[in-house]
Amino acid sequence: MKIGKILWMAVALCGAVVANAQSKPGVIAHRGYWKTPGAAQNSIASLEKAIAIGAEGSELDVYITTDGVVVLHHDGVIDGKLIDEGTYADLQNEKLANGEPIPTFEAYLDVARKQKHTKPIIEIKPHSSKDREDAAVTAALDLVHKAKMDKRVEYISFSRNACERLIAQGPKKIKVAYLGSDIAPKELAEQGYTGLDYHIGAMRNHENWFDEAKAAGLEINVWTVNDEASMKYLIGKGVDYITTDEPELLQRVLK
Ligand code: MG
Repeated sequence: MKIGKILWMAVALCGAVVANAQSKPGVIAHRGYWKTPGAAQNSIASLEKAIAIGAEGSELDVYITTDGVVVLHHDGVIDGKLIDEGTYADLQNEKLANGEPIPTFEAYLDVARKQKHTKPIIEIKPHSSKDREDAAVTAALDLVHKAKMDKRVEYISFSRNACERLIAQGPKKIKVAYLGSDIAPKELAEQGYTGLDYHIGAMRNHENWFDEAKAAGLEINVWTVNDEASMKYLIGKGVDYITTDEPELLQRVLK
C-alpha cells in the first residue's frame, strides 16, 4: 500500500471518529427533570435534578408579570387569570405540585449559574400582546446578562416576534431556535436563527430538513421524545439535542 493511501485512510478514520463523537446528542430535560420524586415541572427542584443527572440542558418556560417579574410557568394561566395580565403578588399563594412557590427566573438563574454543565434552555412563551412579549424578552435578556450567563444559555420560542427580538436585541453570539416546526431550515438560517427546535412529527415528515439544517449550520433539537425507538431514530439522524421528559432513559440509550 502506498504511503499516500495509508495517510489518506488515517485522515478519513480520524474524521469518522470526530464525526461520530459530535453526533451524540445532548440530553435536554423538558421543563426540567420533573418526573422524579420531589420535583415538579418548571420548578427549581427540576433544574437541580437535571443538574444532578448531568443533563446537557434543562428547558424552562417563562412569562412576565405586569410589574416586570419573569416567572416560570408552562400554561400562563392560574385560576383562569393570565400571568402576563397580573402582578407577581397575584401568584404568591400558588404552589407547584412539589410544594414550591412559582419560581422567579432570577432565583432559577441563581441556581443555574453555580454550575457549568447543564445549560438553561429558555422558552419565551407567546404573551397576550406584542408589548408584553417584548417586555419579557428584554427582561429575560437582562437577567441572564446580570447573572453573567450570556454564553451559557439558549433561547427558544414558538413566537417569531420573540425569536426575532432576541436575535436583534441579544448579545452577538446569542443562540436562538424556533419551535414552530413549520419553517424550512434554510429560511431560519437566513433570518439569523442559530437552530431549530422542532416537533419529532415535523422532522419525520420533512426528513430532508436534517441535512438542510446541517448544511445551513443550524443546530437541531427535537421535542418531546419519550420513547426509545424515536430516540434511536434521532441519534441516527445526528441531531444535536433531544428534548425529553425521560432524560435518564435517553442517557441509557446513549450509552
Ligand atoms: Mg417549553
